[in-house]
Amino acid sequence: MAYDPENIFARILRRDIPCDTVYEDDFALAFHDINPQAPVHVLVIPKGPYVSMDDFCEKAADDEIAGFFRAVGRVARDLGLSEDGFRMLANSGANAHQEVPHLHIHLFGGKPLGPMLVR
Ligand code: AMP
Repeated sequence: MAYDPENIFARILRRDIPCDTVYEDDFALAFHDINPQAPVHVLVIPKGPYVSMDDFCEKAADDEIAGFFRAVGRVARDLGLSEDGFRMLANSGANAHQEVPHLHIHLFGGKPLGPMLVR
Protein backbone atom coordinates (compact mmCIF):
# COMPACT_ATOMS: atom_id res chain seq x y z
CA MET A 1 0.00 0.00 0.00
CA ALA A 2 1.33 3.45 -0.92
CA TYR A 3 1.62 5.99 1.87
CA ASP A 4 -1.28 8.47 1.95
CA PRO A 5 0.10 11.87 3.04
CA GLU A 6 -3.42 12.99 3.94
CA ASN A 7 -3.90 10.37 6.66
CA ILE A 8 -4.79 11.82 10.04
CA PHE A 9 -1.44 11.10 11.69
CA ALA A 10 0.44 12.73 8.81
CA ARG A 11 -1.75 15.77 9.39
CA ILE A 12 -0.94 15.68 13.11
CA LEU A 13 2.79 15.55 12.27
CA ARG A 14 2.33 18.59 9.98
CA ARG A 15 0.46 20.38 12.81
CA ASP A 16 -2.61 20.67 10.58
CA ILE A 17 -4.63 19.24 13.45
CA PRO A 18 -3.82 19.21 17.16
CA CYS A 19 -2.96 16.34 19.44
CA ASP A 20 -2.37 15.92 23.15
CA THR A 21 1.40 15.44 23.03
CA VAL A 22 3.18 13.24 25.55
CA TYR A 23 6.67 13.18 24.03
CA GLU A 24 8.46 14.27 20.88
CA ASP A 25 11.97 13.94 19.49
CA ASP A 26 13.60 13.71 16.04
CA PHE A 27 12.22 10.24 15.40
CA ALA A 28 8.89 9.95 17.17
CA LEU A 29 5.78 11.72 18.37
CA ALA A 30 3.67 10.31 21.20
CA PHE A 31 0.17 11.54 22.02
CA HIS A 32 -2.95 10.43 23.87
CA ASP A 33 -5.41 8.34 21.87
CA ILE A 34 -8.59 10.32 21.22
CA ASN A 35 -10.72 7.29 22.19
CA PRO A 36 -8.83 5.65 25.07
CA GLN A 37 -9.34 1.92 25.64
CA ALA A 38 -7.49 1.86 29.00
CA PRO A 39 -6.68 4.39 31.75
CA VAL A 40 -3.45 5.06 29.85
CA HIS A 41 -3.67 4.78 26.06
CA VAL A 42 -0.94 6.54 24.14
CA LEU A 43 0.06 6.27 20.49
CA VAL A 44 3.70 6.50 19.39
CA ILE A 45 4.32 7.23 15.72
CA PRO A 46 7.51 7.59 13.68
CA LYS A 47 8.16 10.95 12.03
CA GLY A 48 8.69 9.33 8.62
CA PRO A 49 6.04 8.21 6.11
CA TYR A 50 5.55 4.52 6.91
CA VAL A 51 2.23 2.72 6.51
CA SER A 52 2.83 -0.15 8.91
CA MET A 53 5.42 -2.04 10.94
CA ASP A 54 6.57 -4.16 8.01
CA ASP A 55 6.82 -1.08 5.76
CA PHE A 56 8.86 0.69 8.46
CA CYS A 57 11.20 -2.25 9.04
CA GLU A 58 11.79 -2.59 5.30
CA LYS A 59 12.32 1.08 4.41
CA ALA A 60 13.42 3.07 7.45
CA ALA A 61 17.08 3.81 8.13
CA ASP A 62 18.73 2.14 11.10
CA ASP A 63 18.80 5.38 13.10
CA GLU A 64 15.07 5.89 12.54
CA ILE A 65 14.31 2.37 13.76
CA ALA A 66 16.55 2.66 16.79
CA GLY A 67 15.30 6.16 17.60
CA PHE A 68 11.67 5.15 17.27
CA PHE A 69 11.93 2.15 19.58
CA ARG A 70 13.99 4.07 22.11
CA ALA A 71 11.17 6.62 22.15
CA VAL A 72 8.56 3.88 22.70
CA GLY A 73 10.46 2.61 25.73
CA ARG A 74 11.06 6.09 27.06
CA VAL A 75 7.37 6.99 26.80
CA ALA A 76 6.41 3.82 28.69
CA ARG A 77 8.90 4.67 31.44
CA ASP A 78 7.91 8.35 31.55
CA LEU A 79 4.25 7.42 31.91
CA GLY A 80 5.11 5.17 34.86
CA LEU A 81 4.00 2.02 33.06
CA SER A 82 7.12 -0.07 33.51
CA GLU A 83 6.60 -1.16 37.11
CA ASP A 84 3.07 -2.53 36.86
CA GLY A 85 3.33 -3.48 33.21
CA PHE A 86 1.76 -2.43 29.97
CA ARG A 87 0.80 -3.73 26.56
CA MET A 88 2.12 -2.52 23.22
CA LEU A 89 0.27 -3.28 20.04
CA ALA A 90 0.64 -2.33 16.38
CA ASN A 91 -2.21 -3.20 14.04
CA SER A 92 -1.09 -3.88 10.46
CA GLY A 93 -3.55 -4.09 7.62
CA ALA A 94 -7.13 -5.21 7.19
CA ASN A 95 -7.13 -8.40 9.30
CA ALA A 96 -5.78 -6.40 12.25
CA HIS A 97 -8.34 -3.63 11.69
CA GLN A 98 -5.70 -0.93 11.19
CA GLU A 99 -7.70 2.29 10.81
CA VAL A 100 -4.96 4.85 10.29
CA PRO A 101 -2.38 4.00 7.58
CA HIS A 102 0.62 5.50 9.39
CA LEU A 103 2.56 3.15 11.68
CA HIS A 104 1.52 3.61 15.29
CA ILE A 105 2.23 1.66 18.43
CA HIS A 106 -0.50 1.65 21.03
CA LEU A 107 0.68 1.68 24.64
CA PHE A 108 -2.00 0.54 27.09
CA GLY A 109 -1.68 0.52 30.86
CA GLY A 110 -2.97 1.71 34.17
CA LYS A 111 -4.97 -1.44 35.00
CA PRO A 112 -4.77 -5.22 34.51
CA LEU A 113 -5.42 -5.68 30.81
CA GLY A 114 -6.63 -9.27 30.70
CA PRO A 115 -5.77 -11.81 28.03
CA MET A 116 -4.15 -10.66 24.81
CA LEU A 117 -7.00 -11.54 22.44
CA VAL A 118 -10.69 -12.22 22.98
CA ARG A 119 -11.49 -15.41 21.09
P1 AMP B 1 -5.72 1.46 14.65
O1 AMP B 1 -7.06 0.80 14.63
O2 AMP B 1 -4.64 0.60 15.22
O3 AMP B 1 -5.36 2.05 13.30
O4 AMP B 1 -5.85 2.66 15.69
C1 AMP B 1 -6.09 3.97 15.34
C2 AMP B 1 -6.23 4.75 16.63
O5 AMP B 1 -6.11 6.12 16.35
C3 AMP B 1 -7.59 4.56 17.34
O6 AMP B 1 -7.35 4.05 18.65
C4 AMP B 1 -8.18 5.97 17.36
O7 AMP B 1 -8.91 6.23 18.52
C5 AMP B 1 -6.94 6.83 17.24
N1 AMP B 1 -7.14 8.16 16.67
C6 AMP B 1 -7.78 8.47 15.52
N2 AMP B 1 -7.74 9.79 15.30
C7 AMP B 1 -7.04 10.33 16.34
C8 AMP B 1 -6.64 11.65 16.69
N3 AMP B 1 -6.97 12.71 15.93
N4 AMP B 1 -5.93 11.84 17.83
C9 AMP B 1 -5.62 10.78 18.61
N5 AMP B 1 -5.95 9.51 18.32
C10 AMP B 1 -6.66 9.29 17.21
